Amino acid sequence: MGAAGSIGRQTLDVIRERAASDEKLELVGFSVHSNCETLRLLKHEFPHSRGAWTGEPSLAPEGASWAGPEALARLLSETEADIVVNGIAGAAGLSASILVLQRSMHLALANKESVVMGYRLLKKLADEQRCNIIPVDSEHAGLFQLTQRIGRAIVSELTITASGGPFRSLPIDQLSSVTPDDACKHPVWKMGRKISIDSATMANKGLELIEAARLFDMPQTRIRVLIHPQSYVHAMVRTLDGALYAQISKPDMRLPIHMALSWPKTTASPFGFADLVGKNLEFYEPQKERYPLLWIARQALDEGEAQCIVYNAANEVAVEHFEKGSIRFTQIASVVARTLERNWNLPVESFEDILHIDSMARTIAANNAERST
Ligand code: NDP
Ligand code: MG
Repeated sequence: MGAAGSIGRQTLDVIRERAASDEKLELVGFSVHSNCETLRLLKHEFPHSRGAWTGEPSLAPEGASWAGPEALARLLSETEADIVVNGIAGAAGLSASILVLQRSMHLALANKESVVMGYRLLKKLADEQRCNIIPVDSEHAGLFQLTQRIGRAIVSELTITASGGPFRSLPIDQLSSVTPDDACKHPVWKMGRKISIDSATMANKGLELIEAARLFDMPQTRIRVLIHPQSYVHAMVRTLDGALYAQISKPDMRLPIHMALSWPKTTASPFGFADLVGKNLEFYEPQKERYPLLWIARQALDEGEAQCIVYNAANEVAVEHFEKGSIRFTQIASVVARTLERNWNLPVESFEDILHIDSMARTIAANNAERST
């Protein structure tokens, strides 16, 4: 799902690379939202697959098996798949995750918003349907492998790493004048624009902190975030005896996608491996003045589930305003902080509750963004 995006394209690469191996994968279906060219090319390259067009139906290209709001549900109910990769960007990924689990398919989950907004309900659904949710986000894929191998019971602390983004060394007083294109020049990873901007503000790591707390049922006080510019170490776990175990691999999203598509087996990867010879690996504590959104995420986690939904929604709205040029880079954090200020102690008992909080937060964040300009 989201076949034309960064995760989608890399998933297709994994399928191509494994085509000649014993661990061959078959693409039976895919979704695109607005990218006609990808739909056409994929139909040509994988003639037995079926393509769902989730965007505006009147723009659907020839070859789409379904188009419009029901397209994803049709794809999932009329296609037999063992596992589905969710590479849709943003909050739209949540309803897609729900559809996958309702159809009793395993979910390889890159869309972190699904976890941030509704993990408790998703997990319940997955358990009822006896399906696995396998994280694809690189840090969480690392934590997943480590905790599965070591045993969650003896893990006392988790660490996720961050590259620090393109402004890691920029004087703090210059942050207010950086542009969206500057923010998208990520030093290590090539990703979609939204997540690239989130890496620059570290809202991405804030979302990942929430994601780790939810996936591994760990209080935020026992989850560390460290800046590691080389992005070789993706995750670490500390065990009760004090030892620290790390998951180390090249910064290449195809590896976590490959691992998720193999799980619970471990299979040979066609993507090479990390060699530490001659590598200098550095780790730093992030600075609060440079990355306030990381601290705001910790506070949201302490406050509750609704606040985590608000954090995500307000950040999405603030990033859209930054992309349009109507707020400055440094105002992304202030819009999120201001949106979280009101009383958000609302119940989160259903997917409708989640969508309600999400939409309220978007309206309030948009107001806050407009007032900041
Ligand atoms: P991209 O923006 O590159 O791709 C997202 C895809 O989602 C697009 O191809 C788009 O389709 C589709 N899409 C957008 N809106 C909708 C919608 N309303 N309904 C259905 N499909 C939609 O994003 P990324 O691939 O970078 O990220 C995808 C997810 O994975 C995000 O949640 C991100 O946080 C997460 N992630 C990404 C990583 C990366 O390295 N890229 C790493 C870890 C996590 P179309 O192009 O057809 O319009
Ligand atoms: Mg990540």
